[in-house]
Amino acid sequence: MPDGLHDVAATLAEQLPDTRRWLEQLVRIPSISALPDHADDVEASALATADLLREAGLQDVEVLRLPEAPQAAPAVTGAWLGAGEQAPTVLFYAHHDVQPVGTAARWSSPPFTPTERDGRLYARGAADDKAGILAHVAAIRAWLTARGSLPVNVKVVIEGEEEIGSPHLAALLAAHGPRLRAEVIVLTDLVNWQVGWPGITYALRGMADVTVTLRTLRQPVHSGMWGGAVPDALTAMVRLLATLHDEHGAVAVPGFADDVRVPSSPERARLAALEVDEEALRHDAGLLDGVRLVGDPDHGVLERLWMQPTITPTAMDVTPVAQASNTLLAQVRARLSCRLAPGQDPQRALGALRAHLHAAAPFGAEIEVALGQHNAAWTMEPSGPAWDAAVAAMTAGYGREPAALGCGGSIPFVEPFSAAFDGAPCLLVGIEDPASNAHGEDESVHLEDLTRACLTEAFLLAELGQRAEELTAGRP
Ligand SMILES: [Zn+2]
Repeated sequence: MPDGLHDVAATLAEQLPDTRRWLEQLVRIPSISALPDHADDVEASALATADLLREAGLQDVEVLRLPEAPQAAPAVTGAWLGAGEQAPTVLFYAHHDVQPVGTAARWSSPPFTPTERDGRLYARGAADDKAGILAHVAAIRAWLTARGSLPVNVKVVIEGEEEIGSPHLAALLAAHGPRLRAEVIVLTDLVNWQVGWPGITYALRGMADVTVTLRTLRQPVHSGMWGGAVPDALTAMVRLLATLHDEHGAVAVPGFADDVRVPSSPERARLAALEVDEEALRHDAGLLDGVRLVGDPDHGVLERLWMQPTITPTAMDVTPVAQASNTLLAQVRARLSCRLAPGQDPQRALGALRAHLHAAAPFGAEIEVALGQHNAAWTMEPSGPAWDAAVAAMTAGYGREPAALGCGGSIPFVEPFSAAFDGAPCLLVGIEDPASNAHGEDESVHLEDLTRACLTEAFLLAELGQRAEELTAGRP
């Protein structure tokens, strides 16, 4: 434990029952941003989150509305700015919306009824990302209770649309950017390397949605009358999708990956330092016996997950089997979900994908390609005062030095806010572990890691305060 923080740590420990109770209250609210039916729940979770920020002792707590998008799921903010002008300002981020539950029958306990089993708390949002909200609340509250003050100025923003790709981030930044301005961003929505072994993420892949519509006929026709000479849209679509990957399952679209950044030698050393237990990875992913991993065998598994792009069909509009008839389909629509690697220019990559889809269309089929949301990958140099503060805080909070991690997923918040705040460093930390199954069924948070994460954030406030001069050096 860092010198002189025993009172803060002891207060945080005393307050853990509240922390746990509040987490349980939050996860009982099914704040599923993807489902319009749950708009009231997302609103309720914003209000409940605002209450917790007030309980933590934050001031100016407010549910943020967007004048140009009143229907947007609200973010919540609060601040404590009593550390003085010389102290750095830190923005803590988490999100209060959650993913849909998936297949309800695959949950071992109801998704919105928090249930403890084997040291883990199971519920949708328990890890992603309501635990992140509680880490902020617990750390700030412990300081304000024990000392009546914080070592740095703190702002908090809890977003409400992260799980649908943050469609109103630009509007949020335009409307409320100045009041959220900070010199360091701490984003508690990431995954630790293992239970008890923390991580800081310095690279996120970008993402892009692409919808492909393929047509071969003006209308569906009888397969007995026409099949054999007339091509159907489903066969054509399946053949088209099969051209996206090579025999290893690696992306095979010409030019798509041309600008992917080649890992530097320190980066290769960081990747090599993390041993991948392939059996554990197979287990955590739920991979079936006999099913092989995919991707370019010249790249290690972590490099494939963090530093290489993917193109994955995630949905298709076709006739359901129960309604099948002997008909040649005229039109099929597919959604491709791309993960973009560090270095890739999204426009360039998507241009290459579009050109490939047109060129590879079987039988002269008509192809329409619509680009949806997309954002580039994000990386930071794993060094500097903010990084050092996080390493020190995690080492104290978990009793173990953190791993430097990449992440295959995307967090749209990071790049635009960091850029708007003059390239403020972003500390991407979290409470999930590989077994948390965020976005899947039986999502859970490891309760001891939740405690360690809360402590880590309390220590981080002190560590950032000790580096005030370096962190504010760039001020005009
Ligand atoms: Zn999340």
